[in-house]
Amino acid sequence: MKAKSSPSPLPLTTGISRRTALALGTAAATGLLVAPGALAAATKRRVVVWSEGTAPKDVYPKDINTVIADGLQSLSGWEIITAGLSDPDQGVSDERLAQTDVLMWWGHQKHGDVKDDLVDRIVRRVKEDGMGFISLHSSHFAKPYRKLMGTACSWREYKADGTSVKIKVKAPQHPIAKGVKDFDLPKIERYAEPFKVPEPEAVVLDGIYIKPNGEQEPGRMGLCWTVGKGKVFYFTPGHETYDDFFRPEVRRILLNAVQWAAPKQ
Ligand code: ZN
Repeated sequence: MKAKSSPSPLPLTTGISRRTALALGTAAATGLLVAPGALAAATKRRVVVWSEGTAPKDVYPKDINTVIADGLQSLSGWEIITAGLSDPDQGVSDERLAQTDVLMWWGHQKHGDVKDDLVDRIVRRVKEDGMGFISLHSSHFAKPYRKLMGTACSWREYKADGTSVKIKVKAPQHPIAKGVKDFDLPKIERYAEPFKVPEPEAVVLDGIYIKPNGEQEPGRMGLCWTVGKGKVFYFTPGHETYDDFFRPEVRRILLNAVQWAAPKQ
């Protein structure tokens, strides 16, 4: 009779995330049975939508993060969390960061208040663990975004002068463009090229600004990079006195961007 070989150990971390493995490990250690629901909860992905709390209340009564989060509600299998500068740990504790797949960021007046230690932790989480980072509008000057890019991240000029924009889908096959068609925004703060960032790996969205005097000027609207293990997306619209984050086209872009930026499971 053939000797029975001992079964090889179960490759616990194969095909499941480290977080899931840890959650399963904890459940096993405490003698709990892992119910299918618990597994589903453990594998839920997480996006944290962060804003600094300075948007005008007449446009964004509960700030920008809550409106963006509303626009992400149709993401299935995702937990959507809002966070802000005035929260404990400036909204991004170590524990929260370790459980975040994608961090979306809107800042403007308070970039300087964001602690350098938090910036370093975010950058590490992107580069080493593959967390996605989405930088919105005036967050081109946000500390985590600048550190990820490693360049000045300045535009040539900034004008909220009644300029409108035609946004063009430049890379229709890109996941961020899924279901997105060319669209107009009646008002946009014009961020003039050149934008001092590294050459993007994709420009998903391009734009043509139309100034109040009829002059036209091109400007990039949606740019992608990979930084270390993580994906980074920058989106130009989103000025705080305009209703961009309520608009279905913008919501679709951000919903796609979250899924694109998430690390592979
Ligand atoms: Zn602005």
